[in-house]
Amino acid sequence: MNNLRLLRHLQRVRNGEGLRWMASQHKRRPQLGQLPPDRLEQLRSDLFERRQELACDEWLEVRRSLVDGHKHINAHNVDAVILGVCSGPRQLALAKNYVEFLRSQGSEPNAATLGRLLRVYNAAYQERPLSATEHAEILKICETLQANHETLDAISCEHLIHGLVATNDDWQRALPLLEMMKVTSTPSVAAYSALAGKAFSSAEKPEHLELAWRLLEEMALSRKLPRCEVYLALFARIAKQPGKLPKQLRRLLQFLERHEILVSQRVAERLRDLAQQLPTPRILEAKVTQLGALGKCQACQQHLQPVAISDEQFRQLSECFLERVLIRRDVFQRSSPEEVARFKKYVERTAPYDCVIDGLNVAYSTGTKKSPQQLAKLVATVVRHFREQDKRVLVLGREHMRSWSKQAMHYVQNNASLFLTNNLSQDDPFLLYATLRSGQETDFFSRDLMRSHAFHLGPELKPIFRRWQQEHQFSLVTQTQSGQIIVKEPIRHRLCAHEVSGGTWHVPYCEAYTQHPSDSFEVPANWLCLKLSP
Ligand SMILES: [Zn+2]
Repeated sequence: MNNLRLLRHLQRVRNGEGLRWMASQHKRRPQLGQLPPDRLEQLRSDLFERRQELACDEWLEVRRSLVDGHKHINAHNVDAVILGVCSGPRQLALAKNYVEFLRSQGSEPNAATLGRLLRVYNAAYQERPLSATEHAEILKICETLQANHETLDAISCEHLIHGLVATNDDWQRALPLLEMMKVTSTPSVAAYSALAGKAFSSAEKPEHLELAWRLLEEMALSRKLPRCEVYLALFARIAKQPGKLPKQLRRLLQFLERHEILVSQRVAERLRDLAQQLPTPRILEAKVTQLGALGKCQACQQHLQPVAISDEQFRQLSECFLERVLIRRDVFQRSSPEEVARFKKYVERTAPYDCVIDGLNVAYSTGTKKSPQQLAKLVATVVRHFREQDKRVLVLGREHMRSWSKQAMHYVQNNASLFLTNNLSQDDPFLLYATLRSGQETDFFSRDLMRSHAFHLGPELKPIFRRWQQEHQFSLVTQTQSGQIIVKEPIRHRLCAHEVSGGTWHVPYCEAYTQHPSDSFEVPANWLCLKLSP
C-alpha cells in the first residue's frame, strides 16, 4: 500500500468513518475501528508484516490511532506496544525503522522500548545468524540501558539477556543479569532457557556445556521447566559430535528422571530424527511406543520399572519426614502442641494401619454442596471399601464431623479408628505421619497432591517421596447414581523417564510444552523406547 492510501485510511478512522487496512479489491477486510480486541493483531498482519519501513507520517498515524483507540495505551507505553506488535523474526528492519523515526522526532526511546527492540533482534536471530553490525547494535543498546540504571528490574534484565544471547562473543555478559534478576525474583523460564540454549549451542568449549547443565539444574529445582529450544540446542550440538552422544544423552535422561519432566512431542520427534541420522552401527535407536497392560512396552516387550522404593529409601524418607519435616519445620503449626501429642499417642496405641483416610477430603471430593448426611455416607462408603478387603483403617477428620449423620458416623467409628482434630488443623501432616509411621506397606486415601510436603523434603528426597506417594495414594474418582464409589488405584510402574535395563530407557512425552504441568499421577499416553549404547 502506498503512503497516501494508508494515510487516507487512517484519516477515515479519525473521522469516525472506520478504516479498511490494506483493503484489496477482492477481499472485504474488517474495519479497524470496529475491532478493538483484534486491532493490534490486524496491525501486525495487515501492515507490519508487509513493510520494511514506514514514512514519518505513517508512524505518526499508527501511534496516534493506537493511543486514541485503546484505553490502556498512552504516550508513555505506545512505543513499546508498537515494537511488541512488530516483533516477528522478519520485522527487525521495521522495528529499527520505528526507533529511528522516534529519534528523528527528537524523542529518545525509553527502556521498555529498547528492551522490546532487543527481543526483535532475538527473534531474527532464531531464524538466521545476525551480522557483525547487528551484534554491535545490540551491544550498544545494552550499554545504553545499563549505563542509565545501575540495577535493572527483572523484565529489563530478561530483555537484555535475550539481546546478548543473539550475539556470538558477548552472550556470557548475560550471566550477571541472570544473577541480578535473583535480587527481586526467581529468573523466568524465558531467561533461563535463552541462556541454557545458548550455552549448549555455542562453541565447543566444555565449560559452556557445564554451564548449560548447571542452569538447567538450577531452573528445574525452582520448578521452572526448560523450553523445547533448550533440548533442541543440545541435540543440535550432539548431532555434530556423535561420539559424545551417549554421555550427554544419558545426562539428559537422568535430568528428566530426577525432575519428573515430560518433554514435548516436538522434542521427542527431534530425538527420534537424530537417532535415524546417526551412522550405522547406531549408538542410539529410538522408537515411538505405547504401553500395554501393567506397563509393558510394546516395542521392546520389557516392563517399566516398578515405582516401589527400597527399604532403605523408605527408612530415609520416613525418618526425614517424621523428624525433620514434621517436627522441626513445624508442619503441625496450625495445631496445638497438646493436640499433636494426643494424636501421636493415639497412633502409638492403634497403629499400624493398612490405609489412612483423609475424611474431610473424601467427604468433599464429589462436591461441597452436599448435605451432612451425604458427606458422612461417602466417608462410610470409602471405609467399607477397605473393610471389605479386611484392611485396618484410620480415618482422620475434624470435630465438626461429629454432627454429621449419626448412623454413618457410627459405621465409621465401629469399622475404623477415628481421630478428630480441632477444626483449624491441617489434615495432611496428620495423614502422612500416620501412614509413614505404620510402615512401608501402608496406603493413604486423599486427593491432595501434597506438593508442599514434597517440596520441603529437598531435592534428594523429593523424588523418593513422589515415588512413595504414587505407590500408596488412593483417591476417589466419583460416586455413581446408585451410590457406588469408583476408586483410583495407584499406578505401580514408573511414570517418568527411566532406564529399565542396560541402556534401554523409556521416556514419556506430552503433546506440547507447558510451564505448569500437573503433579498428579497419570500414565502418559506417548512414550519413546530408546536403546543407547554404552
Ligand atoms: Zn521399550
